Amino acid sequence: MSPLPGSGLAKGLAVTLRTMTKKTVTAQYPDAQPELPPRSRGVIGLFEENCTVCMLCARECPDWCIYIDSHKETVPAAAPGGRERSRNVLDRFAIDFSLCMYCGICIEVCPFDALFWSPEFEYAETDIHELTHERDKLRDWMWTVPAPPALDPGAEEPKEIAAARKTADKLAAAEAQEQAEAEAQAEAQAEAQARAGAQAEPTEPQARPSDPQAEPPTDPRGGAS
Ligand code: SF4
Ligand code: SF4
Repeated sequence: MSPLPGSGLAKGLAVTLRTMTKKTVTAQYPDAQPELPPRSRGVIGLFEENCTVCMLCARECPDWCIYIDSHKETVPAAAPGGRERSRNVLDRFAIDFSLCMYCGICIEVCPFDALFWSPEFEYAETDIHELTHERDKLRDWMWTVPAPPALDPGAEEPKEIAAARKTADKLAAAEAQEQAEAEAQAEAQAEAQARAGAQAEPTEPQARPSDPQAEPPTDPRGGAS
């Protein structure tokens, strides 16, 4: 059966009427900033201190867009008679975001928690070369990485935090002891100086027998004696 003339128009108007009363979902970016989930995949931040240059991220990246250069350095033995060690020193760490497909594999495979997602996404460039972010820029992105979610109540403290607290407590105790020692030393020095000063004070000169030819002492009030 052929549709009634004008039924298509009526259907279209019905859809318009139904949706025109609903809340709009269009985000007016860039006039209004979008509300993104904190774990959005915007850009990758590098926490350089944790990176051991193991190259795992660069090897696993499906796009081969992570560039790492490093050299080896010899570290002297920690104790006399010990062996020298060698360690990798990072020279370059860059990610080409014009190639990156935001799969997150590099972040997943990093065994040392050196890479993090940041929700920042406003880094469009007119020159494609500018989309290769070098280590300084990747480090700056770390400031935009949100803090991890709070632990469940009653959860065990992570061992990294416990170890960091222990080290901080030890340092604080050593500092307090050093300060107390310095104060005690300063006090002892001040006491020794005070004692030396007291011993060096001049004694009262003894009265000498008066010289018979000497002039008689004048009266301080001006009168004759
Ligand atoms: S997110 Fe994926 S594509 Fe991008 S750098 Fe990491 S591993 Fe490579
Ligand atoms: S996997 Fe992690 S530690 Fe290894 S090179 Fe990449 S960022 Fe550095």
